[in-house]
Amino acid sequence: MYAELVSIGTELLLGEIVDTNAPYIARKAREIGLDVIFKTTVGDNEDRIAHVIDHALNRVDVVITTGGLGPTVDDVTREAIARATNRPLEFRQDLLDQIEERFKRFGARMSENNRRQAHIPLGARPIVNPVGTAPIFILETERGVVMTLPGVPREMKYLLEHALLPWLREYVGAPAVIKSRVLRTAGVGESQIDMRIGDLMTAANPTVALAAHTGQTDVRITAKAPTEAEADAMIAPLEQEIRQRLGSWIYGVGEETIEEVLLRLLAERGESLACVEIGTEGLLSERLQRAGEKAPDVPVHSLSLSRVEELETLGINAGVPLRNLVETTAQAIRNREGTTYGMAVIIRSGEEEDGIATIESAIAVASEEGCRTRIFTWALTRTDAPIWVTTHALAMLRHLILRSQQEG
Ligand code: ATP
Ligand code: MG
Repeated sequence: MYAELVSIGTELLLGEIVDTNAPYIARKAREIGLDVIFKTTVGDNEDRIAHVIDHALNRVDVVITTGGLGPTVDDVTREAIARATNRPLEFRQDLLDQIEERFKRFGARMSENNRRQAHIPLGARPIVNPVGTAPIFILETERGVVMTLPGVPREMKYLLEHALLPWLREYVGAPAVIKSRVLRTAGVGESQIDMRIGDLMTAANPTVALAAHTGQTDVRITAKAPTEAEADAMIAPLEQEIRQRLGSWIYGVGEETIEEVLLRLLAERGESLACVEIGTEGLLSERLQRAGEKAPDVPVHSLSLSRVEELETLGINAGVPLRNLVETTAQAIRNREGTTYGMAVIIRSGEEEDGIATIESAIAVASEEGCRTRIFTWALTRTDAPIWVTTHALAMLRHLILRSQQEG
C-alpha cells in the first residue's frame, strides 16, 4: 500500500525550519508495511494545499498531512482537504466542547478563533488531541484515505503513535498475524517437560518453546498465519497434543497464576484453606490474598511466622524433626480454623556460597484423609527460595484436590 506525505507550512518552503516530521512519519510508516512513495511540501495556501491533496489521491492510497491545524487564518489544512475531497466542513459542538475543556484545564480562556478547530470535513472521524488543542481526523473517501497530524513535532509524534498508526496497521493489514498461547505449569521441572514434549519443539510454524521462571515453566505455542482465525486453527491441535502429554501439570493459560486457579477450584468445591508459613517472608499469604481479590468467597486463613519457635503460640513444640514439625503444624492449623485443608510451609536456609544457599524446605497438606508431606533440599538464591517453595506448595495442594476429585 502506498502513501504520500504532505508537509504544510510556508516556513518549510522558505527554509526557515527543516522538515523533520516527514522523515519521522516515513520511518514509522515503513515499519507497518506502508510504502511512502511521494513527499510534498506546500505553503499555507488553501488552493495549493487542495491541489496537492487532490493530486496525491490520484496516485496513492493514503495521504498524511502535517501542519496547518492551528486556530489562525493561515492554518487552512481543514478547508483544503474538504475542498479536495468535495465535502463541506462540518462544525462539531462535541469537538468545540473538548477544546474548551482543555483550555479550562490550563486555566486559560478559549478564543473565538479556536472555533475553527472544531470543523472537520463531513464524514471524517475526529481524534481527540490530548497533547494540544486541535483535533485531528481520518477521512476515508472513495479515492483513498486522508489523515491529518499537527505540525508541532511533539504533538505529531504522540498522535501518530497513539491514533494513526494503530488505525493504519489495521488498514494496511499486516502480512502475517503472530499469535501465541501460553500454557502454564507449576511445581514440575523444565527438564521433565522437555522430556515429554521435546520432539514438538523442532517445528518452524507453529513453534513450541519453554520458558522457565522460578518454580514455573511456561509452554509457549506461537503460530504465524494470514489471519488470526488461521493462527488459532494451527495452535489448537498442537495445544491438544501438549495437554494430552502434560496432563494436569498444566494448571492454566495466559496470565493465570497457580493461586488463582487453586482458589477457583476451592470455590467450585465449596472448600476452605488455612496456612502457616515460616521463613518465606509472608509470600504465601500475600499470593493468596492477591488471588483472593478475584475469589472473595473462598475462606482462606493465613499466618506468617519468621521463626519455628513462634509455633509455640499454636501450642506446637518446635524441637522435633522437620517432617514431624511440618505435619503437626498443618494439622494444628486445620483443626484450629476448622477448614477443609491445612497447609504448612517451612523454609530453613543453610550455608550460602556465591549467593546460592542450601535451602531446606518442608511442605505438608492436611485434609480429612490425612497428611501429605514433602521435604526438599534446593540450591537457590535467598530471594528465589520463597517463590519456588510457595509455588510448589500451591501446586501440591492443587494436585491433591484433583486426585481426590478423580477418585471421588
Ligand atoms: P499550531 O496549532 O501550533 O499552529 P499547526 O498544526 O498549525 O499547529 P504549524 O502551525 O504548521 O502546525 O506548525 C507549528 C510549529 O511546528 C512550527 O512553527 C514548527 O516549529 C513546527 N513544525 C511544523 N511543521 C513541521 C515539520 N514538518 N517539521 C518540523 N517542525 C515542524
Ligand atoms: Mg499553525
